[in-house]
Amino acid sequence: MSVFYDPDRLASLTAREQQSFVARTQKSMAMAQQAAAHMPGGVPMAWMAGLYRTPPLYIAGGKGASFTDIDGNRYLDFNVADLAMTMGYGPEAITRAVTKSVSEGALFLLPDQEAPAVAEALARRNGLPYWQFTLSASGANTEVIRIARFITGREKILVFGGHYHGHIDEMLVDVAEGGFQPGLLGLPKSAAAHTIIAPFNDLEAAEQVLAREDIAVVMTEPALTNCNVVLPEEGFHAGLRALTQKHGSLLSYDEAHTYQFGYGGLYRAWGLAGDFQVLGKGLGTGISFALYGMSEEIGRVVAAHIDVDTEANGLALGGTTYASALAVATAKAALEEVLTESNYARIAALGERLSNGLEAVFEKHGLPWRAFRLGPRSGFCMSDTLPRNVEDAARSLDNDLIDARRAFMANRGIWDSVASAGPQASFAHTEQDIDRYVETVDAFFSELK
Ligand code: PMP
Repeated sequence: MSVFYDPDRLASLTAREQQSFVARTQKSMAMAQQAAAHMPGGVPMAWMAGLYRTPPLYIAGGKGASFTDIDGNRYLDFNVADLAMTMGYGPEAITRAVTKSVSEGALFLLPDQEAPAVAEALARRNGLPYWQFTLSASGANTEVIRIARFITGREKILVFGGHYHGHIDEMLVDVAEGGFQPGLLGLPKSAAAHTIIAPFNDLEAAEQVLAREDIAVVMTEPALTNCNVVLPEEGFHAGLRALTQKHGSLLSYDEAHTYQFGYGGLYRAWGLAGDFQVLGKGLGTGISFALYGMSEEIGRVVAAHIDVDTEANGLALGGTTYASALAVATAKAALEEVLTESNYARIAALGERLSNGLEAVFEKHGLPWRAFRLGPRSGFCMSDTLPRNVEDAARSLDNDLIDARRAFMANRGIWDSVASAGPQASFAHTEQDIDRYVETVDAFFSELK
């Protein structure tokens, strides 16, 4: 990693900014203490205390691309809840659909009359003909794995270094000496028994694994987005498709993030071919649902193996609150009113403005860096060469620098992205918002030098 700053100067800047962060969020700090009596870490979900590496803020509300904490501080949000809120806070189309759905019955455990239209729209737009809803991308990936195991009669899963596919035992696995091991506490040792991790952008390594012909499904994002951004090299996806077909494995594209980076997802935008496509995070609406699409052949298998009550003879799919009328109504409004081709083009242009702005700042400060560029997603590549795998990408993860920048930006009204992601232009951002982000980054580097 190229350390361009004086570590002492960074440390004192961080200390000053963290002090100021605490000083202007006194109500949040008090609430955290009080809340810790009944919620571990003072939060209703553990990530809220661990994700940002700053003390948790308690939120009063949000509108558009900004939210306000209980001390009255307003933040222009470039994290957008890790893409679960790319439509912004309180978007009109979603508010209308949700209000109507909740007032008319949010859930029937029977198909809502709009569900066929949503599945048909997704089939037309994305390219895969059959669709199912779950509550989260974790749930969708779980079902994809089960279907793939049933169809192939195999148990193993291949993922790529830098992967994140959700809160699933077998996906929370890391490379260890001589093999793989559970990456977090609370997982059984056996979590790693069926998972293989290979380097992204390395077809030879993938072939070595696939040639053993025991992989049920290869699960990957089109571009890795949970370790900064790693773009696929020319031919990587086509090669992967050919290898999975040659060796009898299925291929699933996890677009929990990247669905918001191209119309129909990168699956359609990049002309990918696979067996499944997973969409998540309520398509960026903040409502809890996810979807997965599957090929004609797989859809037929699923239809032929629906579990029948009391007989327990089908595929292990579904949950009581999956595919609610609320999720269907939200998805319909999102697809029709927000996820339009023109809105995708608009946020891609905002992403380009963000990346251009960051590169101009790097140049001004003599930093030989690049901005990540993936549609509306940007970020800090602390090198003049873009990463081709997770090891390369990790060189841009300077936690000390990120902590200082996040606190500095927060104190100036910008909520920056979490460390493993990059700033994100959302459907709610404007050009002025992007410029404000870039100006604040410029001020940060000016102080640091
Ligand atoms: N897949 C990918 C690519 C993700 O980035 C995430 C969450 N960051 C998930 C799956 C899991 O999503 P959820 O936490 O909503 O289940």
